[in-house]
Amino acid sequence: MNGERVGREILLAEVRAWARRIGVEDRLREVQIRPMRRKWASVSSRGRLTLNAELLAQPAEVRRAVIVHELVHLKLRHGAHTKLFRALVRAYLEEASRS
Ligand SMILES: [Zn+2]
Repeated sequence: MNGERVGREILLAEVRAWARRIGVEDRLREVQIRPMRRKWASVSSRGRLTLNAELLAQPAEVRRAVIVHELVHLKLRHGAHTKLFRALVRAYLEEASRS
């Protein structure tokens, strides 16, 4: 951990930017940031994204990986980690790390 904490507004802005980029801004209905016991995040098929408040203390790459993972679930509309799912996540993250 690099000790740099970000505010909730930063995390929410990152979520909004990625939702636009991934094309799920219409499906994303609600974003919550709260303590979670065992996961970094979850997303419901109804478009409720819940992010673990611990993410606020994680580096940008970790926040990005979690956000992209959950929003690709929303894009594909099912919970499975298929080949397509993994390829899409990888492509978005590689694109982000190049820019
Ligand atoms: Zn998943």
